[in-house]
Amino acid sequence: MMILKRDFLKLFALSFFVFYSQFLVAQNLNKVQVDAKYKKNFKSLVSKKSIKADLEFIQSDSELSNKELIALNEIPAPPFEEDNRGLAFKKLLETYGVDTAWIDAAGNVIGLLKGTDDRYVAIDAHLDTVFPIDTDVSVQFLGDTLYAPGIGDDTRGLAVVLSVLRTVKQSKLKPTSNLYFIGSVGEEGLGDLSGVKYIFSNQGIKVDSWISVDGGGLGRITNKALGSLRYRVTFKGSGGHSWGNFGIVNPHHALGAAIQKFVIAADEYTKEGPKTSYNIGRIGGGTSVNSVPFASWMEVDMRSVDPIRLNKMDEILRAAVTEALKEQNDIKRSGRELEVELLEIGNRPSGELPENLPLVQNALAVLDYFDIDPSLSRGSTNANIPISMGIPAITIGRGGVGGGAHSLNEWWLDKEGYKAVQFAYLILMMEAGF
Ligand SMILES: [Zn+2]
Repeated sequence: MMILKRDFLKLFALSFFVFYSQFLVAQNLNKVQVDAKYKKNFKSLVSKKSIKADLEFIQSDSELSNKELIALNEIPAPPFEEDNRGLAFKKLLETYGVDTAWIDAAGNVIGLLKGTDDRYVAIDAHLDTVFPIDTDVSVQFLGDTLYAPGIGDDTRGLAVVLSVLRTVKQSKLKPTSNLYFIGSVGEEGLGDLSGVKYIFSNQGIKVDSWISVDGGGLGRITNKALGSLRYRVTFKGSGGHSWGNFGIVNPHHALGAAIQKFVIAADEYTKEGPKTSYNIGRIGGGTSVNSVPFASWMEVDMRSVDPIRLNKMDEILRAAVTEALKEQNDIKRSGRELEVELLEIGNRPSGELPENLPLVQNALAVLDYFDIDPSLSRGSTNANIPISMGIPAITIGRGGVGGGAHSLNEWWLDKEGYKAVQFAYLILMMEAGF
């Protein structure tokens, strides 16, 4: 049968349509969905005269906010040494009119603004930075760009929290729920989210909805927590002379074997399935080339989107360490046996909250209104803890532009930074009701 030209065109058009509609389906699957109900709710909120005035207030508040950013940044605050910055932050919370402010047993600074119902909505940024106490944290200017370790991560987050507080206080709208304004401790490195872990422990406060301000892009909302496990593994022996004591067990030899066994098994396991990673970031020990060392240690970081896979990585590490220990003890010719210690130095749970959660939808509706392309992401922030417990929590961006986080060249520029404050304020009001 001959195919007519017209039929051919039809066929072509049809197959193109099939191809294109599949493409659309694929696109839709990846595209973040904002429910019409939330869009409508938000539209009615943002059209209120008083909200418009609040958004203008936020823009005019930038100057004061940037001054605070600089002042807070110049108070050093490594994990476990946030006291001075915490006191300064508490004083600012009091100045701007929270009903009460206190420092909890972990060192978190908490300001409470009372509402009229029994719900508690928290907005948080972390007080600590990754930099040791003697780091020069004074702020340098290059044009309008601010340079200083910690200026973005997360001192800018603290500035956003304070600006939101001022906005709430001057607004004609009164939030229904109670609001917490929080500067938390121990987010970074070995702090291991200790501040937020305390807040969500039995000794902590009641929180129904949690918003962390800690991250880059304005469009990114973190509703998934990347879990991690970190260990310091130390092989310990008697140590001795490399010739005179030859034959005693050598901790470095055991560490080397443990690394090899771990990497081979971990590589095999992580090749497939939900993303899981591993890294040995530091190794050390030993005194001289002609000494059998007393100790040999490594620091291991393992991460996974899936808590079950993280547990499996934990097993793989333990098995590698146990086997290496046994092997080396088996070839010992004299002296006492090696011992090994696994010290947990980090444990951040993973988890995720559904896209249709009201808090997530409220945040998406705000972005949608401002025509910012939203994305839902996975991160390792304070929100990990509530997310892992199923408590509504997200992390949102600090706004402006910046870079070099966790480096001495960190910078931040107030390019439409007010938008992040407006965004944070609006999500908070949507959550709290008024
Ligand atoms: Zn941070």
